[in-house]
Parts: sequence; C-alpha cells; structure tokens
Amino acid sequence: MENFMNSNNVESNSSWAGALPVKQGLYNPDNEKDSCGVGFIANIKGEHSHRILKDASNILCNMTHRGATSADPRDGDGAGVMTGMPHTFMVEEAARLNITLPGQGEYAVGNVFLRPDEPHVHEQKSTFESIAQQIGLKVLGWRAVPVDNSILGPSAKSKEPSIQQPFVVLDPAVHNKFDNKLFNRQLYLLRKQATHAITLKNWFYICSLSNQNIVYKGQLSPVQVYDFFYDLQNHKYTTHFALVHSRFSTNTFPSWDRAQPMRWAAHNGEINTLRGNKNWMRAREGVMSSDYFGSDLQKLFPIIEEGGSDSSAFDNVLELLVVNGVLTLPEAIMMMLPEAWQSNANMEPEKKAWYEWAACLMEAYDGPALMTFSDGRYCGASLDRNGLRPCRFYKTTDGLMICASEVGTMNIAPERILEKGRLQPGKMLLVDTLEGRVVDDRELKLSIAARHNFRQWVDTQMLSIDDALANAPKFDMVASVDNVPLTQDPRLPAFKFTIEQLNLLLLPMTTDGKEALGSMGNDAPLACLSSEPQIVFDYFRQLFAQVTNPPIDPIREEIVMSLECYVGPEGNLLEMNAAQCHKLKLPTPVLTLSEMEAIKNFDITRADWTTRVIDITFAKSEGPAGYLPTLERVCAEVAAAVQDDVKIVILSDRGASADRVAISSLIATGGVHHYLVSEKKRSRVAIAVETAEAREVHHVCVLLGYGADMICPYLAQEAILKLHRENAIKSDAAPEKLIKNYVKATSNGILKVMSKMGISTLQSYKGAQIFEALGLDEPVIARSFAGTASRIRGVGWELLALDAFALHERAWPSRETIAVEGIPESGDYHWRNGAIPHINDPDGIANLQDAVRRKNDNAYEAYSRNAFEQIKACTLRGMLEFDFSKSTAIPVDEVEPWTEICKRFCTGAMSYGSISMEAHSTLSIAMNRIGGKSNSGEGGEDPARSTPKENGDSLRSSIKQIASGRFGVTSYYLSDAEEIQIKMAQGAKPGEGGELPGHKVSEEIGKTRHSTPGVGLISPPPHHDIYSIEDLKQLIYDAKAANPRARISVKLVSEVGVGVIASGVAKAKADHILISGHDGGTGASRWTGIKYAGLPWELGLAESHQTLVLNDLRGRVVVQTDGQIRTGRDVAIACLLGAEEWGFATTPLIALGCTMMRKCHLNTCPVGIATQDPYLREKFAGSPEHVINFFYYVAEELRTIMAKLGFRTINEMVGRTDVLMVDETRRNPKTANIDLSPILTPAFTLRPGAATFNVRKQEHMHHTRLDNKFISEAQDALNTGKRALPLEGDSNDYVGKGLSGGRLIVYPPKVSSFKSEENVIIGNTCLYGATSGKAFFSGIAAERFAVRNSGATAVVEGTGDHGCEYMTGGRVIVLGSTGRNFAAGMSGGIAYVLDLANDFVSKVNMEMVEFETVNDHEEIAWFKDTLEDHRHYTGSAIADRILKNMGEYLPKIVKVMPTDYRKVLEAQRAAKLAAANQKNDVVPAVLTAAPLAAKPKPNEPTLVDLEDSMVDAETYKKRSEMVDKVKGFMKYKRRGDAYRNPKKRTKDYKEISARLSDGELQVQAARCMDCGVPFCQSNATGCPIGNIIPKWNDLVFKNQWEEALNRLLMTNNFPEFTGRVCPAPCEGSCVLGINELPVAIKSIECAIIDRGFEMGWMKPRPPTLNKAGHLVTVYDRNDRFGGLLMYGIPNMKLDKGIVQRRIDLMAAEGINFVPNTHVGVTTDVNDIRSQNDALILATGATWPRDLPIANRNLDGIHFAMEFLQLNTQSLLDSELNDGKYISAKGKHVVVIGGGDTGCDCIATSLRHGAASIVNFELLPQPPATRAKDNPWPQFPRVFKQDYGHSEVQSHFGKDPREYSIVTKEFVSDGNGKVKGLNTIRVEWTQDASGRWSMKEMTGTEQYFQADLVLLSMGFMGPEAELLKAVGVKLDGRSNIETPKSSYHTSVSNVFAAGDARRGQSLIVWGINEGRQCAREVDEYLVGNTLLPVTGGLQQRSLKSLTFPAAATQQAAASF
Ligand code: SF4
Ligand code: SF4
Repeated sequence: MENFMNSNNVESNSSWAGALPVKQGLYNPDNEKDSCGVGFIANIKGEHSHRILKDASNILCNMTHRGATSADPRDGDGAGVMTGMPHTFMVEEAARLNITLPGQGEYAVGNVFLRPDEPHVHEQKSTFESIAQQIGLKVLGWRAVPVDNSILGPSAKSKEPSIQQPFVVLDPAVHNKFDNKLFNRQLYLLRKQATHAITLKNWFYICSLSNQNIVYKGQLSPVQVYDFFYDLQNHKYTTHFALVHSRFSTNTFPSWDRAQPMRWAAHNGEINTLRGNKNWMRAREGVMSSDYFGSDLQKLFPIIEEGGSDSSAFDNVLELLVVNGVLTLPEAIMMMLPEAWQSNANMEPEKKAWYEWAACLMEAYDGPALMTFSDGRYCGASLDRNGLRPCRFYKTTDGLMICASEVGTMNIAPERILEKGRLQPGKMLLVDTLEGRVVDDRELKLSIAARHNFRQWVDTQMLSIDDALANAPKFDMVASVDNVPLTQDPRLPAFKFTIEQLNLLLLPMTTDGKEALGSMGNDAPLACLSSEPQIVFDYFRQLFAQVTNPPIDPIREEIVMSLECYVGPEGNLLEMNAAQCHKLKLPTPVLTLSEMEAIKNFDITRADWTTRVIDITFAKSEGPAGYLPTLERVCAEVAAAVQDDVKIVILSDRGASADRVAISSLIATGGVHHYLVSEKKRSRVAIAVETAEAREVHHVCVLLGYGADMICPYLAQEAILKLHRENAIKSDAAPEKLIKNYVKATSNGILKVMSKMGISTLQSYKGAQIFEALGLDEPVIARSFAGTASRIRGVGWELLALDAFALHERAWPSRETIAVEGIPESGDYHWRNGAIPHINDPDGIANLQDAVRRKNDNAYEAYSRNAFEQIKACTLRGMLEFDFSKSTAIPVDEVEPWTEICKRFCTGAMSYGSISMEAHSTLSIAMNRIGGKSNSGEGGEDPARSTPKENGDSLRSSIKQIASGRFGVTSYYLSDAEEIQIKMAQGAKPGEGGELPGHKVSEEIGKTRHSTPGVGLISPPPHHDIYSIEDLKQLIYDAKAANPRARISVKLVSEVGVGVIASGVAKAKADHILISGHDGGTGASRWTGIKYAGLPWELGLAESHQTLVLNDLRGRVVVQTDGQIRTGRDVAIACLLGAEEWGFATTPLIALGCTMMRKCHLNTCPVGIATQDPYLREKFAGSPEHVINFFYYVAEELRTIMAKLGFRTINEMVGRTDVLMVDETRRNPKTANIDLSPILTPAFTLRPGAATFNVRKQEHMHHTRLDNKFISEAQDALNTGKRALPLEGDSNDYVGKGLSGGRLIVYPPKVSSFKSEENVIIGNTCLYGATSGKAFFSGIAAERFAVRNSGATAVVEGTGDHGCEYMTGGRVIVLGSTGRNFAAGMSGGIAYVLDLANDFVSKVNMEMVEFETVNDHEEIAWFKDTLEDHRHYTGSAIADRILKNMGEYLPKIVKVMPTDYRKVLEAQRAAKLAAANQKNDVVPAVLTAAPLAAKPKPNEPTLVDLEDSMVDAETYKKRSEMVDKVKGFMKYKRRGDAYRNPKKRTKDYKEISARLSDGELQVQAARCMDCGVPFCQSNATGCPIGNIIPKWNDLVFKNQWEEALNRLLMTNNFPEFTGRVCPAPCEGSCVLGINELPVAIKSIECAIIDRGFEMGWMKPRPPTLNKAGHLVTVYDRNDRFGGLLMYGIPNMKLDKGIVQRRIDLMAAEGINFVPNTHVGVTTDVNDIRSQNDALILATGATWPRDLPIANRNLDGIHFAMEFLQLNTQSLLDSELNDGKYISAKGKHVVVIGGGDTGCDCIATSLRHGAASIVNFELLPQPPATRAKDNPWPQFPRVFKQDYGHSEVQSHFGKDPREYSIVTKEFVSDGNGKVKGLNTIRVEWTQDASGRWSMKEMTGTEQYFQADLVLLSMGFMGPEAELLKAVGVKLDGRSNIETPKSSYHTSVSNVFAAGDARRGQSLIVWGINEGRQCAREVDEYLVGNTLLPVTGGLQQRSLKSLTFPAAATQQAAASF
C-alpha cells in the first residue's frame, strides 16, 4: 500500500489527504464512482429521542449489502449518519471542556477532519479560528471526538484524520443580539473560506458546521459507524431524525471525506451531467449578486469545490441556495432535481410554470438519484424524474416516518404500520418536523408554485421561436438556395461532405425522418491515424452509461426526455423575479434555415434582443498560421458583443469561399464557451452556431456538448433542398417537409445520444461534455474543450489548420487542375478502392477464407501480412511493436500448445436471431471441439442444443448471455452455462438497445426467446435493471446463486473511466470482465452509434488492467478483450496490455463465409449467416473446421511471438507492456505527437507485488446465504412439483425476476390494519423477464412491473410508472391504478386494468397497444378463476369485492392488447379453426416449433423477369417502380448483353451484341447488393481501375444515368472499350458469384457510356494529364490511332466507329495526335524527348511469341495480330475489297493459342468463309465450376464459350477447341506452303507443392490439316528498337523496369506505362497504368498532384503535412 500511495504526496493531488492516487498511466481519479444505500427515520412531530438514533443504526446496518468493502473486510467504503443537534449531549460535553454553550440553536457544532499530526492540527485549528474571528464568529473551543480506531481496517487507518468538534457562536463582541439568519450565513462563509484556505489536500474537511444538524461519518463500513463513534452510543445523544448513508465505491482507496451524508443531503446514484453543471455554475458566478451576501459573495467562489465527488458538488449548490434564503430546502431540491414536467399533460399548470421558471435559472442535475436531505426542520427524500433508484417508506402509528432504499431495514411490528409507500419518480417525501406532519408532494409543490404567479411571468416574459418566425421579414427557404448544382457546389468538399454521407445518412433522415442503420461495426481508421484530412468532430467519441448509471430508452420512455431549452442571458440565481423568465424557448436546438434567419433578424422586432453574427472564417492568404489567431479574434468579438449586451451571438462559417477558410465550428464553439466560462460571462449570452460542418447527429451533439445553444446545419439543409430540386429524392414530400424530417431525425438522434448517458433533458446535456477526445493534443483541449479526457494527445493546432486548408484546397484548388466531377467519396462506411483503409478489406477476407478452407498456410500468411498493414493504418496497436531486445527467445516447442491457448478463445455474443441457426450452431460445435467458448448472445438458447450429437459434437454455447432483453432467460438456461455473461454494453452501440422486427421472429426464434412468432421484440438499452453498481452486485449474486458452478462475467465497453468501473465490478464479485472495443460488434445499429461511441480496446483494456492492479483487484478476475482482433499478433498485444482471454466475432464469421456485406439488418445475407430466410440459409457453406483452422492459425502465430519474447505461458505474458514499444519508424507527420506511454505504463510498477493476472476465485459466500436453508426446507415441495413461495410481508425490487414456473405469493401481514390495495408491497422491476409461472401480489408494485414479462400470469393491486413495459407475453391483472407510460414497448401478452378513477387511458403509452373490453366468455371465466386464486392465496379484499360484484366491476376493466399480438392471435385462431374444420388433428403450423437446427426448406424464389410480361409504357413504369433492390439478387435472373443470332451475325462485321433495354438494365442493377466490401471493386481480384460499381449500379437503378456516367468516368476513361472487351474480373469476384450468377456489371457499364454519348453528355473535357494543365502529343506508327483497340480487336467485337469517336473526342479535348510516326525507327525518340518535359513510353507488348518448330518458315503461318490488323485495315479502307488482308476463305484454319485473340481469329476466319476451324489449347479444358485452387474471388478459370466458339459450334456443329495438345511440327505441301500440323496430346499433373508439369502421351499423335495457321500465343514484351534508343533499363522479362508502384524509368524524364512496363495484360490494366502514370508525371512536373489514385479519389500525401516554419513559431507563441 505504502509504495504506490507515496506517489500521492505531490502537490497536484487535490483529493482529500491525497487519498486517491494521482493520475498515472490511464488511471484518473476523476473517474471514480460511488453508489450507495440511503435512508432516514424521523419523528414527524420533531420529538427527540435516542431511540431514533438507534433505529437508524439498524437501517444502516441492514443496508450493508448496498455498500462494499475492500480486500480487508474491516475497510468499508464509507458510511455515516446525520442527526439533529443533540443539544443536551453537546451542552454536557462542552461543559466537560469548561465551555458554556448558549441556548439551543444559538451555537453550532461542527465535525471537522484535521491532519492528525502536530503541528498541523494546531495550525489548522488556528486558521479556522482566525477566519471565524474575521467574520464575526467565535470558536468557543474544540472537542476531540472520541473514537475506537482499533476496529478500522488498514486502509482506513492509513488516512484516519483527527476528528474535532468546534463550538462556534456569533461573536458577542460584534453582535449583541442573536440573529439566526446571520449566524447561518456566517457559518457558511466560515466553512467555505476555511476549506479554500486550508484545502482538502491538507486533510481538512468539514463534515458539517451547523446549529441544527451534525454529521458523523468516515471511511467505515455501516456496522462500524456506531462502534467507531462513541458519541452515537451515548444514550444522552437524542435527535428527532437520523439520516444514514452507506457507500459503494469503485476503488479500494481510503477516502474519509467521500463518505456521506454530506452537509445537507445524502445521495444514492450518480450525477451524469456533472461536468456541465460545474461549468454552468462557474459561469453563473459571473451574473450572481446578492443583497444578502453582499461583497462576501466573492469569497464563496468557487461554489462547487474541486476534489469532491458528484454528490458533494450537488451539496455545494444546494447549500448556497438554501443559505441564500430565497428558496427553502424543498424548493432548492425541486429546482435541482425537477420531475419530468415538460411532457406531462396532466401536470397542474401552475406547477409546470414554476418548473419552467426554475429551468430558466438552472439546468437539472441529471442522473439516477435518490436524494435524502435535511436542514433540521425538514427531513425528506426526492427521486429523479426516471425513478431509477428505489425508495420505500413506512409511516407508523407512533409518529415515525421511516424511509430507505429498501424495505426490511427495520423490524417494525406490522400493527404499528399505518401506511406503506414508495417514492415515485420526481416526487418528494417531506416531513415537516416543525409543523409535525408529512407534507403531501402535490400540496407541497402547489404551495411552492403559488408563491408568485409564475405562469404570468412565463407568459409575459418568454419568447418562442414561433414569435421570432412570425415577426421576421418574409424568407423563402427554397429560393434562398443558390443555383449551383449540388455536384458542383464547392462547399461540399470544403466541409468534407461525401456522397456516402448524403446517401447513407442524409437521405434516410430526409425521407423517413430516421437515422439509417448499419452493421458489422466500424473498422475504418481512427481519425487521429488517418492521413486524410478530418473535421474536428471526428476526434470525439460519445461516452455512455454502464454499470454506475443506466441508459434510458428514449423512444419508449420519451415521457422523461425533453429537448426543450431556454436560451439567452440568465437571471440572477439568488433572486426570484419575473425577469428571470426573459428567455427564448426552443423546442429543439436544431434550427431550420428560416428559423436561423428569423433569429438573425430578431432585433428588427425585439429591440431588446440584439443578435450579432461573428464570422469564423479568415483570409486564405494568412495561411495555416491564421487559424489560431482567428479563434482569438472570434473570442474577442464575442466578448465585445457581450459587453454590448448582445443576447445571441451567431458563430457563422457562411463566409467560407475561395478566399476565406473556416476554422472548425466546433473549435470556435468550444473555444468561445470556455472563454466565456472562464471570464464568468457565459450566462450573459446565447451561442448559436450557423455551420456547414454539422450534418450528422453526432456533430450536433458535440456542438451542444461544448456549449452551443442552437445549431443551424445550413449546408445539410441546402443540400437536401438541392437534392429535391434535382429530383434525387424519392419522395413526393414538399421541401419544407423534407427539412422537417431532417430536423426530426436529428432531434431524435440527439435524444438517443443523451439517453445513452442516462441524461433526460437537453438543458442538462448542453455543455456537459459527455465525450472523450481521441487524438487531440493538450493545447487544443485546454483552449476549446477543457476538462475533456484526451489520453493519447495527438493532433495539435498546426495539423488542424493544415486539414482545414487541405479541405479548402479540394473545394477551391490553387492549381488549375480540373477536379474529379461529382461529390467526393471517402469509403468511410463501406470499403472503397482508393479510399481510406478498412481492417476488413477484400484481400484479407479472400485470403482468410482460402486459408481456413484449404488449410493453406501461404494464404494465412498473406492474410496475416495484409491484416498487419490494415491494423497499422487503422488502430492504435498498429503503432506498437514487440521489443525483442529485452527477451531471450526460447524454442517454440517450449511454449504451451495451441490446444491450451484455444481454451482462452471465445466467439462473440451473436444471438440466434441476429445470425442463422446454421452459423450459430457451427460456431458452438467448433468452440466446443477446441475447448474454447461460444456465446449464446442475448437471444436465449433451445435446451435441446445441450444434448450432444451422436458424433460427440455439442451445439451448446458455454457462455449464456443475459442482457437488457432477458430473452429466454430461464432457470435451465442459467444452470446450463459455464459462464453467465451480463452484458452492460456492446461494442457497436454502447448504451443503446435494439429491436428484432416481427418478420424475423420465426417459429424457432419465438420459441427460443419465449415470445410470439411474428411479433417484434424490443430490447431496451442494456442494462435496464441495473441502475447502479449495487444493482449489478445483486445481479451477479443472483446469477451465481442460479448456477454456482458458472463464472459470472460482466461485459463492458471501452471508454474513459472503464478501469474504475471494472474495479467496481470486481468488487461486486464478478469473476470475469470483458472489455470490448468500440469497433467490433456484428449487430445492426444507427451509424452514429457505430461510428462515434466507445473507444479502442487498447485504451479500455490497459486502463482496466492498470486500475485493477492499482486496487489489488486484478488477481480476483479474469480479463478478456475483444474488438476486430484478427491475428496472433493482435492477441499477443492484447495479452501484453492485460487480457488473458480474447474474443472474436467478425473473423470467425468471415471464416464461415461472411463477406462483410454489412446488410445484416436486412435479412438478406447472401451467404446464409445473418439471415433467417430459409432460401438464404440454404446457402450457408461454413463448417466447424473453418473456425477451428482459423483459431489454430491464430494460436500458432501467437506461439511464435511468445517464443521470440521468451514466454512459455500466457500467464507469464499478461500485462507485460515492458516488452512492447512504439515503433517510431511507423510515425508520420499525422501521428508524430501521439503518446501511447499511458497505455504502455506497466501495471506491475503501479502497485508492486499485486497480482497481475487471475490467481484466485472471488469469495461469493454462497454457503452462508439464507436460500440454502429455504431450499433445503422446501425440498419436498420442490420434489413433488408443488412449487409455491408465499411471503407474508414486504418485498424489495426484482421479485420474480426471470420467474420460469411455480407460484409466487406476497401479501401483507395478516395483522396489518392498512388496506393492501392502497399500499406498496413489492419494489421496482418485479417479474422482469419472467417466462412462465404465476404471481399474486396483494398490494401495489413500484415502477416497471412485469417489464419484459414473456409468459407469467400475475395479479397486482396497483403499479408505478412503466408497468408492463416491453412485455412480450403472459397476462397481467392490475386491480388498481397505474403510473404513467403503461405498456410502453409492449408487443405481446395482455394486461387487464381496473380503472376506477377513469383516468387509466391517459397513462398508457399507445404506441403499440389498443384497448378492448372483456366480454368473451372464456376470457371472463379465466379472469374470474385467476381472481379467485388471488383471493385464495393472498386474502385480497379488493379481489373479494370484485368477485362479489363482477357485474359492476367488469365494465371498468380495460383490456390492453398489443396490436401486432392481436393480429397474430387472430391468425392462430383462424388457423386452428381451419384445421378443426378439416377434421385434422395436426397442430397448426404457426404453433409448432421447428426441430432444432432443422435444415430450412429451400424456398426457391420465384424468379421475376420484368421484361417478360411487359405490356405498355405505363405498366413498365409502374413495375419498374416496384423493382426491389433489397432482394433483387434473390428475385431476378442475370442477363448480360444479348448476342445476335450466330448464324446471322457471322455474315457481317457489325457488333455481335446489343444493349439491354432500360427496364432490363434497372432490374440487373437491382441485383447488385451494394456490398459493404464490394469485391468487384477491388483492384486485387476485381476491377483493376477500381470502378465504383455499386455506386453506378445504384444510380442506374434509380434512373440517374448522368450521375452514373460521372461516377463511371471518375475511374474509367474509356468505359465503351472495357464494357465491350474487358474479360470482367469484376464479375468473377462479385459477391453474388459465390453461389449465384454475378451481377451483369460489364453490360451496365457499357450501357452507361453508350447512353452518355447518345445523350450528348460526353462533351469534350480535358483528359487526365490535360486536366492538370499539361499538353499531350501522341505518336503512332499506324495510320489510325487506337492501337490494339483499332486494329487488334475485330470490328464485330468493337466497332471501329466507337474507337474513332473516342479519338475524335480526345482530339477535341486537346490531344495532339501524330500518326504514321514510327518512333525509334522513322523518328528519333530523343528529339521528341528533348522537345517535351516528359516522355511516356506506352508502346505495349507487341513482340509476339513464336513457335520455333520444324517448318515454321512455311507460307500460310502467320501471327494472329498480323491477320487481325490487316483484316480490320482492309475492312475500314475498302470493306475488304482491296484484298490487302490474309483471307481464310475456303481454308482449313488452325489457330494455335487461346484467349481473346485466338477467339477473334476464329470469328474472323469464320466470317471469311473458312472450310474448317480448329483451335489448339496447350492447357487442359477448364472445369465447369471453380477448382479448389481457384477459389472465389479469384478470376474464375472455368470453361466458357466465347462468341467465336459458339459461332463455330453453330456452323460446324462442334466447338473448335482441342485441349492439352502440342504442335510438334508444321507439315509442308512440298511447295513451301503449310498443309497441316503434327500434334501430340499431353497430360498435366500437379506435384505436392502445387506445381504443374506436362507430359506427352505416346500414342496420341494426330495430324491436322491446315492451310492457314494463326499463332496466337501472346506477347513477349515491347519491341526493342525504341527502348534501346531511349536507353531505359529493362527487367528480366524484357519489359521496361521501374521501381515498385512507380512509372518513372531509369531515364530522368521518361516514364513507362501499360504492357510495355507490366507485360501483356488486360486493357483495363492499361487504363489504370495510364492514369497512375499521368499522376506521377504531373507530380514530377509540378511538385504535387490532385489527380486521383486508382478508384478515382484524391488522396492527400503525407508529404503535404508541413506547417510553414514562421507559422509554427507564431502558433507556438499563441499556445
Ligand atoms: S473495366 Fe472490366 S473489370 Fe472493371 S468494371 Fe468494367 S468490365 Fe469490370
Ligand atoms: S457488383 Fe457484386 S460485389 Fe459488387 S457491390 Fe454489387 S453485388 Fe457486391
């Protein structure tokens, strides 16, 4: 302990007594969390007694389980008690010290912690006394509080303070008369000033200092409090109330001050908005003034003291408000913890007005909170608006009010109880001990609301946005948009808008009013690593609630959410007047263009509401150095505006233009906000942000989080209006509606982001900074985002400025380069050739699948190498390398075997439902075989899977997950687990819930999840029943009780502070902790969640490991991590960072066949993995071996690394970050400043000696639990099946959680006098996730009764809010009133509610349910029976009354029926009836569960061919609108371009194919699935130029041909050629081709360009090099241009008119063509070289391969090219009339060599009229389908019949090809002419290494007649003369040599491209070579280039990331 605590004695530690360690590694004490149990007991009449104090001890001790202890049970986390002042006791104690106290109330006694050693005690006392004296107080003396410190644990003892009680009075020398108000004010001043002066870090802490109350507390466990403080045992110590608190801290550090109660309140829960509350409070200090405090007010600041907890911050503010005296204690509580008033239509208007007034002054302290409080007179409790903490109370006959976090804390005879209740959400329980009564919440709040006419204040003072709009000058939003077409709008690239954002994000928001869904996580690079310029928003990650507070469901629980806020200057918090309401009320912070305009013009109509626009752009001429000074200038202008009393400043980037660059709106907003906060001026002005940057929900949220009051995302809206104008939106809605939809989607998105953190109101979210920055440097954080965690530093001002300039350059380039047309792409969401990398790219996926299917080591190596490259580009671990220098390598044999390592592997929690049964069970089998673990996911699991198969395989998942949904969690499910995993959050969408739509809930899934097939399931955000750490502790306990053998795992997601949470989880006794990264996850989620929530696991894991070691908790838990773990290297790094187990989700799925389609949410997974469609499931081709092979490879790779590092076992390796280092060679200007040292801090140095891996089991103490006794006593009943559990008394939360059978009965004690139906009997969240059984509760249930019930029947006599929430089945009868939001998210089951007050309807959430009456006989009979049971078991009086008067009560029963559930039940009934009518006993199919993992019945879709049944244009239009793109690949047949009839077409030389019709093309385009990883586009196996196939397919589908053409031309200069002659490797690698025919890509490509020419869209535009401003001359030795295209390919395949059309166009575009120039022969190449700046050699590979065998010199033997060229030349010159060609007419033709050229020779010979045609192929005939060694997505080497072959077949009845044949010699006719060939057949064999060899087969010799032989065997390389003349170096294959990835030859200004450089290849490769060579030439000539890379995108070169030296100095000076 001492060693690591010593580090605390540094000045910077502001915690009390340096109790918390300083920030070190990734540990930060600011993240520490508390949670607790609270309670109080009060004598309502205010009578004092010692009994009360004693009873409070019971309450405290009985909440011990809500607190926690450290490793030593004597070290509690903290506990204490607040009481009224024990006057008699104090008088006597003072007298002992010779101090005479004045009368009660005229003196104060404090409890003060002092530094225990002299001289500190003395010094601190005297400072205290002298401050007291200065303010007119007198310290009469000090009493040392007697304590028994022998009971303290070592940790508590190490920081035990000296506890002293000062007796303080008003100094009689100054004040001659006692003034209570004055006394209290001065006491407050004394406390504040003494605390500021002496400071917490010097151990000084005032527990309380009051004349009314006193607080005793310390770092104690609850049971120690009374033993430690002798005072509390003294019977003379009397009080009228006692308020107790027991703390659960996440750490194990001694911190006496953090114990509670605080001075005024005690808090159970967590304040989520603390950062904002603190900032706003600080800002408010600037506008605070007080007559009461006068000039002393300044001495109170800061009101919120540093170094305290969230509870202490709350207490600080509460103290100010109460002491100030304008508000009473209950009023101050109401202001700080308001109930959910905004959406409550039933709230009294005056009360609402009060809340509205209060909201104008202060935001709520939001988060789960049960706040108990007292000022001596009032004693009470208040609950947060969500009711997220439990609070139960009893009122007794002897005048006591007992209130606590739970019932049962005190033993009270039932007959003493008058009333039992629970505190409802937002309500207050108040005992007024002066008036001697309990004040009803309604009465209290109405009386408070009646203090003034608040309604009138609000109505007269408040402005609304509608007022502003009504009074503003007329503004036409649509007309305000400029005329520039969207695709040419430079602002889009300037602000980094991409086409994906428009398509994927903006369009769905605009048309559907919702954010779009994505899936399969985020595998793109972190913003701080990406070389592409970023907008600052990209560096921010949203934080979310996990464990210590719950996220909220913003949809189903919208009643507590609000986006309303009041903006503008704030009033003085310390007053109460109408002017405080003078604010602008906004329903949402997102402003439309019209609203922004109205606000800008506010001052026209409201002279008192001046606004000022502040330009946040600066002159481009200032260069990057102008960036930071602009922020300074903006702040200064805002300050001036505030000075001028401007009410709204508008930070605007509308000034951005060619000459002006914008600073980031986020930098500006955060900068201005923090500047104003620090100047205490923030409360005087509202900040509006008018920005082009913000477009996504995340952007708006970050702006709000850093202080924006309102945001107008103007460019997003203008883009929508332009899209509408350009007919690019498939919606008939008016533009205004589209904008409204966008605002709605954004607003709902904000709610979702807020709710993730458990924040309900925007007011509290604003400025709360619920983000972590990843990769921003300290100066940036300090200036604009102070207080935000940014743990790895990174990008500073310079790079931010350079990014702004880079984006500006893309919009308004300084070079005269013609930019790529259209809106840029980025590949942020889907992998995109040429764009940013993704961890999962086509190469990686293909290699992995090849490796695991063929167990191909080479493929795994290629996979691993590729993965490493992507990891380097995308992740933090990519910067790390192993430091082998510190280790001694060992032989790999000494490392533990792979079979052992595999036991530490788990597959991810993918539920059956999200993936198919085939995929799910294959994973289980594989993991069971290797001893690893598969995870059921949260979807339950069929028990049948636990029975092993005959071959020993098991389909059982060892890990059973329980999450928010609690789907299918039965006792069996839990008992059958090896690990029970509690999912607190998930990587892809931490803090969010999900939904399984009804169509996905199949029979099997319905059965597994215990729900109704066809009815949708809603998962609330996890974990809806965990509101604090003690709830988790209970769930762990319960799960362990359900299965003591299973280890209990808690799944967390990486974010700042997760280490502290992990420590809390370890203290809560989890056995296993999983830290998930942000990037994993396979499920569907909104893109905002996928992209921006959570952090990399490297950070979360290292933080958790370090914090666990620091707390000495690491040895108690196993730590696992997951998130895009790919290889053994990743595992090794995860292990070194602290994980001893690792999870994999995406990669095993890829091994099983997943291609990262990212279409999981659409149920259309084409490989049968993420789908329930039987047709698609049939396509599943994975096997357990694939998964096993993957893990084998990973383990082996890991072992190799372990051996090199010298580790024999994993345990040795865990946490050894000392053998990791940052690889400095991988740094680049972007990553230069990233600091990974916090991650690499070795945890074992933080607390030497502490365990660093799991060494022991948690002590769950289950052997001592009461259940054991009950179970053993109930054994008989259990054995006989009579499972009933009756309870006479009360019960707390979670009764019947997961009930899966039996009967539960709870009823009040028989002797009770109260009415059961009016009193609370059970707590919150009862029957959560029950699946069957019955429950009878005679009394009222608290909040969330029967939440997620899916099968139990229950009777209860009233419920709180959110009753029957998310219910999916079962029946619930409520014999009394309910709270609000009944049936929210209820998709199944039925509720019957007795509505006596006739108000039930207003309390129901009607989103999914409807009302019915109960009149069906069967139903009435069931209802009666159930009530009879209820009466029988509980003796319920209300049930008795109803049963006796059914006629009277039945009409008052409202039946709540979910709409979808009703439909399904009706269908079931109809099916049943139909079956009965057929006299058939078969159970209706809908009720029958399919057998486990039954092979789905293939349901071959009916193929639709739209054209087949086409009738007229109108019908066509209608049908084409119905073309389905989502399932197009399943519905429509492939059709490529049709060839003309071979008999006819061979009579001419016209093109053989015809284009498809428009309709056909649309259908074909609909077959494209827009893959997440479009393999078609990959230049490795797909399209070499990276054609953007999915995009143009989509545009063709949408009939946007011109835009499709623009997309096509981005990558392809000559689509009309590739569309005709390319062999289409794209189609070979199309994902559809895995198990279907691929998309007809080539046909669509060709159609687009042909359409472009037809429509005249193909106007001259400069070709590549000319675009960059260069002049190009092309020389050709031929008379016509086009090379191979002109003369090498016959006209029927490529019409020469088309070639000439392009040549003409290029000439018009500025290319200078010089024909008939044989450079190197007729013209000196060096002349040309010297006349030009650069020379490109693109001569092609024209040196044909010869066949030098006997008689080669005979006549009639020609090279194919000679034959083809002469033919085309003659055809073009004379229609073949000039005879200048080699005719095949009447000849026997043999073509030697296949390929395209061979085929062209065949087809040409046929057209000449050849007598016979034979084609020799050396290789064997390819197989009909892919061979094993030719897996997808490689180019398929399969048998194909090309056009020439089919023509010959149709003419001669036989395919011309002969395979495996070798020509031995040509045979002469004796006249020097060839007459035939002698051949022999060969056999091909493959050796073990895969190498092929050929052997001639004797006896197969054959003679072939031939008088024309055409040699078509390819080319050897370029012709030599020219190359020799230039002097370029050649490579071994005689091609021109250039360095890798370069086109620059060995000669200075000479470049080479095409076949001359790369050897013979495809035309499309030639195009790519030309484009990339042009790029290099441009860069060579100019020094930089904007020409695109392969794939058509501009890419920033990291070379450009240099900041001008002068600017660096200037920027540095500003920091
Ligand atoms: S150029 Fe070739 S590979 Fe590329 S899309 Fe067109 S046909 Fe496919
Ligand atoms: S063409 Fe094929 S691989 Fe390419 S996106 Fe479409 S379906 Fe996917």
